[in-house]
Amino acid sequence: MTTTTARSYEVRTFGCQMNVHDSERLSGLLEGAGYVPVESGIADIVVFNTCAVRENADNKLYGNLGQLWEHKEVNPDLQIAVGGCLAQKDRETIIKKAPWVDVVFGTHNIGSLPALLERARHNEEAQVEILESLETFPSDLPTKRDSTYAAWVSISVGCNNTCTFCIVPSLRGKEKDRRPGEILAEIKALVAEGVIEITLLGQNVNTYGVEFGDKGAFAKLLRACGQIEGLERVRFTSPHPAAFTDDVIEAMAETPNVMPTLHMPLQSGSDRILKEMRRSYRSDKFLGILDRVRAAIPEATITTDLIVGFPGETEEDFLETMRVVEQARFGATYTFQYSKRPGTPAATLPDQLPKAVVQERYERLLAQVNQISLEENQALVGREVEVLVSNGGRKDDATHRMSGRGRDNRLVHFEVPSGEVPPRPGDIVSAVITEAGPYHLIADSGYSMRRTIAGDAWDRAEAASCAVPSVSLEAGKTSVSLGLPGLGKPAAAHQH
Ligand code: SF4
Repeated sequence: MTTTTARSYEVRTFGCQMNVHDSERLSGLLEGAGYVPVESGIADIVVFNTCAVRENADNKLYGNLGQLWEHKEVNPDLQIAVGGCLAQKDRETIIKKAPWVDVVFGTHNIGSLPALLERARHNEEAQVEILESLETFPSDLPTKRDSTYAAWVSISVGCNNTCTFCIVPSLRGKEKDRRPGEILAEIKALVAEGVIEITLLGQNVNTYGVEFGDKGAFAKLLRACGQIEGLERVRFTSPHPAAFTDDVIEAMAETPNVMPTLHMPLQSGSDRILKEMRRSYRSDKFLGILDRVRAAIPEATITTDLIVGFPGETEEDFLETMRVVEQARFGATYTFQYSKRPGTPAATLPDQLPKAVVQERYERLLAQVNQISLEENQALVGREVEVLVSNGGRKDDATHRMSGRGRDNRLVHFEVPSGEVPPRPGDIVSAVITEAGPYHLIADSGYSMRRTIAGDAWDRAEAASCAVPSVSLEAGKTSVSLGLPGLGKPAAAHQH
């Protein structure tokens, strides 16, 4: 129940899934400390979870902070906190540039936010607290999940690589791995709440185990996920090609609930540029992994990230990327234009390319990847697809279609035949693909539906949110849990 005196909060998130996930933890922490989500207008506490990777990240942040300053003039009780990667990087500079900010906290101490807000209020002075390494593994913190059917599960944070375009290692630190028993206990707890899909999350997910000296730990973890009753879909993001080993392919192929999908960042098809990026695999090795994945899992869909216009990239280098893309036949590609990130080695490289050159290559690449995705999707017409119905999967008024994700993570819109009870988010629909676009499939025939524990969990959550008592509402369930969140899309924003 919401009391009228509780202070409200809002978390504004920029950047990658790691941040989306951290924001869920921030919400969980704030609710645990008695704050309530804001319903309208400006909250009493506004938290920015920032990103240092995206272009213009700092301009965007200071623009937002500037707008809030006006509100603070009117409401001096408004508290503003800035966390995340940009806070880790800029620290006191944030208070210098925006002295009306109350709290600055880093990526390693998000658990301190409620205490820092309290301290800032009590001492009437800004609090800046940045730690150099992790105090508690972030998954030990309460999390407020937005999805009833899917959740992220952090298995590691940090990265031991040193890609020259990436700020993550200096901001998130060396890789830290969670113990397998703890991860599996968290997944089981999530499944008990109705979650049927989990995404194992790590900056470099497949080097999992490096900290406790077990090279086979990631494959073992996948297999262990296969033993969890009720868990229907397991995904992971993002693996690094240099560390991608055959035991992982075998585990994927032999564990039925590990989905036939692999999101593995290529970044460039040019071996020379990969070397400049300090990424230790070469395009041959990358394509070799794809061949082995497809041999073991013929229906596997492979997606990737690419950077266009890295400093010194020549037309020949770019054509190498086009060549590898043609050969790799990605189901989806997240294409980024290189832009300088202050603090990264690549930012000081000579031969930064003019924007017009990058733009022109980007457009050429985009046309190619879209064409390939379209062809790959069209090849699926006539096949049956199993769709996990998504939260935003409400029936579209015009088309009567709902949406969800296939086993391969493709976005699928499907028609619910008239007279059928519509599925709930988290239920599973089977249908036959009738049409395809570059980014989605349409499945308008052969509809059938299976109700799941995730759909039941959605019913319970709906009943709880309208304060309507539900017979199936179990005692002790709250919206704040020890665990993680869920979203459908693969890593559109991460950097690996
Ligand atoms: S791009 Fe990924 S693998 Fe490379 S340094 Fe950044 S986080 Fe690590």
